[in-house]
Amino acid sequence: MQKTECTHYDEVVSVVVEPKAEVCQVCGINGPLRMCATCGFVGCCESMNSHDTEHWKETGHPIIRRMPLDEASWVWCYEHHDYLRDEEPAKTSEAASNR
Ligand SMILES: [Zn+2]
Ligand SMILES: [Zn+2]
Ligand SMILES: [Zn+2]
Repeated sequence: MQKTECTHYDEVVSVVVEPKAEVCQVCGINGPLRMCATCGFVGCCESMNSHDTEHWKETGHPIIRRMPLDEASWVWCYEHHDYLRDEEPAKTSEAASNR
């Protein structure tokens, strides 16, 4: 059974978006940051000033990614209130490099 059926995920994450800034575009704080996967908006997380959440409320863009955008960068959907990427593709490659 699938965890969360997020209709936003396929739609949004299939398009690669570059972050528009390296700091929060609202308050200028430098991390922890989230990037809107729809438009590339960069906002600070809820432990700071919640500008990522504000962006969602203003625009309705439901998907954010953790910054920096690396392999560990999870995806969060505000509407489904769940992480959308918790498979761990790293396991096989880890095992392979351990030999
Ligand atoms: Zn969703
Ligand atoms: Zn901010
Ligand atoms: Zn956005």
